[in-house]
Amino acid sequence: MNCIFCKIAAGEIPGEILYQDEEVIAFRDIEPLAPIHLLIIPRRHIPSLTHLSDTDAPLIGHMVIIANQLARDEGIAGSGYRLVINCGEHGGQLVTHLHMHLLGGKRLSDSMG
Ligand code: AMP
Repeated sequence: MNCIFCKIAAGEIPGEILYQDEEVIAFRDIEPLAPIHLLIIPRRHIPSLTHLSDTDAPLIGHMVIIANQLARDEGIAGSGYRLVINCGEHGGQLVTHLHMHLLGGKRLSDSMG
């Protein structure tokens, strides 16, 4: 499968990986939009939010818990941060492998769309 995030998860192309376990991997975004910009992804290829099933609820919960842990590790838990999952064309999703953005380290835009 020609998926860039699957290749990062498999170690086939480099990524600045900050966390990994059996379910998820987290690495720095290559084009950061904030001083801290990480991506948390499932190892399994799930194209987008719309492809989740009921049984994936623990996976999404795990991704949020890992994001919170990374926010603490990166020193932005106190100042605040934003978790974003883009979905589909209108949601601005460019990479079709489910991913959660963790953004922080500055006051983020008030705009939500
Ligand atoms: P999205 O628009 O939600 O699909 O976001 C995709 C994100 O993946 C963007 O912020 C890109 O900068 C990021 N990205 C694309 N390729 C890589 C890569 N090889 N390593 C790290 N981040 C990447």
